[in-house]
Amino acid sequence: MQIQQNISLKQLNTFGIDVSAKYFSTFNNSDDLSELIALNSQLTTFILGGGSNILFTKNFDGIVLKNEIKGIELIKEDAQYIYVKAGAGENWHQFVLYTLQRNWQGLENLSLIPGNVGASPMQNIGAYGVEIKDLFYELEAFHLKEKKVFTFSVNDCGFGYRESVFKNKLKEQFVILNVTYCLNKIPKFNTSYGAIEEELNSMGVTELSAKKISLAVINIRSSKLPDPAKIGNAGSFFKNPSVTSAKFNDLKTEFPLIVGYKNPDNSVKLAAGWMIEQCGWKGFRKGDAGCHAQQALVLVNYGNAKGKEIYDLSEDILQSVQKKFGVKLEREVNLI
Ligand SMILES: Cc1cc2nc3c(=O)[nH]c(=O)nc-3n(C[C@H](O)[C@H](O)[C@H](O)COP(=O)(O)OP(=O)(O)OC[C@H]3O[C@@H](n4cnc5c(N)ncnc54)[C@H](O)[C@@H]3O)c2cc1C
Repeated sequence: MQIQQNISLKQLNTFGIDVSAKYFSTFNNSDDLSELIALNSQLTTFILGGGSNILFTKNFDGIVLKNEIKGIELIKEDAQYIYVKAGAGENWHQFVLYTLQRNWQGLENLSLIPGNVGASPMQNIGAYGVEIKDLFYELEAFHLKEKKVFTFSVNDCGFGYRESVFKNKLKEQFVILNVTYCLNKIPKFNTSYGAIEEELNSMGVTELSAKKISLAVINIRSSKLPDPAKIGNAGSFFKNPSVTSAKFNDLKTEFPLIVGYKNPDNSVKLAAGWMIEQCGWKGFRKGDAGCHAQQALVLVNYGNAKGKEIYDLSEDILQSVQKKFGVKLEREVNLI
């Protein structure tokens, strides 16, 4: 456990923003975390995972603590389910592959999402019709002030669309140490998301399996999303906003091609990417900050963009969508 000073974070965030942390350390167990917190109690703390859902807008004047708690453990099983606990510092996709290799099913649709296990509950990561809340069992988290470990059940986490208590009510109060998922022994596949079935067909799959669905998802994601190793980005920059059905009807009259999906509560979720595209941002570039040419929802750093330039672009996009559609977009990416 070594505290470093003035460390560049460029390689530690997928946007590739070149900022520095005044102090930096890693930890791989809760005792080290506790000690680091006690030693640096006067400093602002930031917990870093894989850095794939953050935008640094300036140098960080406190201590960045990178969670490197490892380990995957089978906790218990019954005829239907497997309970598997993973350290917060495990890479998410490697964890998904680990479960699939053992024929533990459920996480296949969430293949290839960047980042670490510890951040997966933060915004209830989701893709292709599945969210982690569907398979979540419990997590353990360290309370920074009380210096105690608490266990959170699914109800304690307040999961919603790209939301949890850790992103709002309990923001910056807890460090997630490990997460336990409840996976299926008996298949319950979800291929209803259009592109998966299409991809499975083109792969010539006749008999479904979790591994084949995972492969289909990997193929789709690799062809559609910019690879952060090549172009800096943090995936979808904005959330898809929901509006009342009355507002949706008004929008539909004015913009007949507007894309919306009904939520269970009758509100309608709009495709933010479509609205951004209609405002003319798709493929826009100013300096090294841009809006991706294939995915308008993804903001990119072509090389040396500053976090502030990406932020300013996101602000311009937000305002133009508000002006054209009367809909306020919300950022999905965490601003630091
Ligand atoms: C190309 C690309 C595609 C993506 N696709 C998707 C997608 O399909 N679905 C989706 O939901 N997301 C997607 N994302 C976003 C991102 O991968 C997820 O949000 C991921 O869970 C972030 O993990 P991370 O470890 O990188 O978190 P970080 O970016 O390091 O951190 C994110 C936030 O969580 C906090 N945090 C991290 N770890 C902990 C911890 N252990 N305890 C407490 N707080 C913590 C940080 O302080 C920060 O506020 C995508 C990103 C990219 C770059």
